[in-house]
Order: sequence, then C-alpha cells, then structure tokens
Amino acid sequence: SSAASDVYKRQTKSRAWFDRALEVIPSGIYGHLGPSEGLFLPLEKWPLLSSKAQGTYFWDMDGNRYLDLMCAYGPNVLGYGDPDVDRAAMEQLMTGNCTTAPSYKMVECAELLVDTVAMADWAFFMKNGTDATTFSVLTARAHTGKRKTMFLRGYYHGNDPWAMKADYPGILPEEVAHNIVVPWFDLPAMEAAYEACGGDVAALIAQPYDHGNFADNRCASQEFWASVRQFCDKRGIVLILDDVRTGFRLDLQGSDHYYGFQADLICFCKALANGYNMSAVCGKEHLKAAASSLSFTGSYWMSAEPFAACIACIQKLKALDAPTLFRRMGQKLTDGFRDAARAHGFDLVVSGEPALFYLRIANDDSLMLHQEWVAECVSRGLFLASHHNHFLNAAVTDQDVALAVDIADDAFSVVAARHPELELKP
Ligand code: PMP
Repeated sequence: SSAASDVYKRQTKSRAWFDRALEVIPSGIYGHLGPSEGLFLPLEKWPLLSSKAQGTYFWDMDGNRYLDLMCAYGPNVLGYGDPDVDRAAMEQLMTGNCTTAPSYKMVECAELLVDTVAMADWAFFMKNGTDATTFSVLTARAHTGKRKTMFLRGYYHGNDPWAMKADYPGILPEEVAHNIVVPWFDLPAMEAAYEACGGDVAALIAQPYDHGNFADNRCASQEFWASVRQFCDKRGIVLILDDVRTGFRLDLQGSDHYYGFQADLICFCKALANGYNMSAVCGKEHLKAAASSLSFTGSYWMSAEPFAACIACIQKLKALDAPTLFRRMGQKLTDGFRDAARAHGFDLVVSGEPALFYLRIANDDSLMLHQEWVAECVSRGLFLASHHNHFLNAAVTDQDVALAVDIADDAFSVVAARHPELELKP
C-alpha cells in the first residue's frame, strides 16, 4: 500500500521545541503525555509537541498529521474542536466565567448529571480526576469514621499522596499506610483483608474493569460486580467507582449501570466536557451530608465555561448514542488490526472493552516487538500507545478506520522484514 512510503522523517522542529521545553520545564513534557511515561521508544519516531488539532487528528510542529487513537488520553470524546461544544463554551466565556457568585450553569450541569447518571442523587464539581477520587475517599472516611481504603491490584486513581505507592519520591510511608491492595476478581481475598484489619475499611475504590497498563485488560462481569456490591453492603463499606477513564464511553448512565450495579460514589473527568477542564463526583443521598461536611474547594472549580461545555457535550453524546458508536468502531478497528497482524504472521491480542481497546503483540514475551510496531505506526501517522488502553472519539469515520488499518499493515510488514529470526508464518 501507499502509506509505507510516507514515513515521517521531518521532526526537527518538534525536537527543537522539546529541547526548549527541557530548559524551562522539569522533564520537558511530564507525566502521561511525555516521552518517559508515554514510553516513546525509539524517541525519534514520535511527535513531541503539537501545533493544532481537528476531529480525530493532530499535527506536530513540522506539519505531520496523526490519526489520534489516544484522544489526549480520554478528553477528546467528540472530536477535537467540536463546533457545538466550542460554541457553548465561547458564549459562556463572553457572558461570565470565574465569578464570585458561581453561575447558574453549575446547577444546570448538576441537574443534567443527576438526570443522566443512573445512581446519581447529587453532583459535586472539581477539576481533575485526582480531585474526584480524593473527594470520594474523604467522603467515605467522613461518613464511616473508618480509616482504610481497599484497592484492586494494578490500580491508578490519580496522584494525590493517598493514591500513590510507598516507594514514590516524596511519599511518606504513613500517607499510604491505610491502603489495602487485593487482586481483581477475588472475593475471598477481599473478605480476608477486611477481617485482617478488624473491619476498619471506609471505602473500596475500583475502576469498572481491570484496565491497568502493561497488561492485557480484563473486563468484569455483572456477577462479579453484584458480589462486590453485596460485600460492601454487608459491611458498610462505601463503594467508589473510578469512572475517570471509562466514563461515558461504555454507558451514558455510568459504567456501574453498564455492569448492572449502582456505586455509592462515581468519579467522572475525561469525557465530561470534550477537553474543557472539569471533573465531577456523583453520589447517593446517604452520602450527601458527609460530602457537605468536607473542606474541599478550588479557585477555578465553579467556573462556568466548562459547565456550559459539559452540558453541550453530554447532550451531543446522547444524541449520537456515542457508546454504541464507540463499541462498533472499536470492534471494527481492532478486527482490522488483528487481520493485518495475522496476514504478516503476528499474533495481536486485543483486550478490554472495544471503546478503550488494549493491544499486545504476543509473538514474544517482552514488550520489544510491540513497541517496535507501535513506533512504526506512529512514524506513519497513526498515534497508538504501547502500554496503555486506547480511546475512541465520535468523529472517527470509516475512512479513518481504513487508514488506520492500512498504516498498521505497513508497520507490520516493516517489522516482519526486520525480524527473519521470528520465522513468522503469514
Ligand atoms: N483514575 C483513573 C482511572 C485515571 O485513568 C486517571 C487519569 N489517567 C485518574 C484517575 C486521574 O485523573 P487526573 O489525571 O485527571 O487527575
């Protein structure tokens, strides 16, 4: 096919901007969007900074275009620069944004979430996913008077100290001393951990399914969640669902609804407002008093522009029945990737929910081949991640899917040619 000749060789400007970033920003580009956590290997195959974005695409500093299946790690849920969301946001910006008395838009936004999310009796707003998970754990502690939080192994709930690990720089052992980690899908382990601490458990916090990094993702079942719900109910444990990554991609009524149960608290962030800055916790009535009692706020948390964007975004997600679209397109993309892999003798394992699919080449038991293939995709204009789930957005078209599969196919052929020792059998 044609894409193989289109390897992006010009990334000189992006690299120069990254060097400037290194001078004035610790690690240049930090966290999940940067080359170290993002696992950009080899580095020269990757765009480092962008100049613009539209729909499913962004462009680097040298003008190279990328079909983006990471969607800014989630916030791009409708397509970059969605005209309906941007119009609502701009109009609100001209009317009033960060004001002493918060805008009535906050109330409208809470009403919309309460109407949309199945378990929600109320909503509370903040800025990032971490704010939402922290608020939830504090609410659970305030409500129960207990100290410990139960986590499921491979968890990520943000970067406040309570959610970190004991060996992370800057973290004190006592900040994570009340964390209990149990394996996924293991009720006896949960029960044993509960007994071992004398029942001092305020909350169980979990993602809707095991979407950890560096490992095949494992979906949950309704039976699993029904048994977790029962476990928490019997012991007065607050069940917190971290829907920061998955929220509104599986089910507009919440990922607990998708798996047939109701959480006590649910955390949303990435897909709420198509890139405008906000997060939210929705809760059950019995936790409203504890939520009200917290000392928890921020300078920009009640700003109106993101609320206007959120209202427009959720209405559009509903009008499009976006979760059905994400499932269908995710299935189509991953079927195409798998077929292309097979045609070159590769075994591509696809896991997780199709809207947030995770990929792994299984021909070797390290990440090396997979990283090599992902790098060849990226340097041909298909942005994937080697160690993290992907994200669909509602602007992805059938032509985009065809282009993605075409690039993936070229990348497989290049990697196959480089590795005769694998004796691949197409
Ligand atoms: N929980 C989950 C499951 C997440 O994926 C993330 C973000 N990657 C967070 C919490 C933290 O969100 P934020 O980075 O917005 O603080």
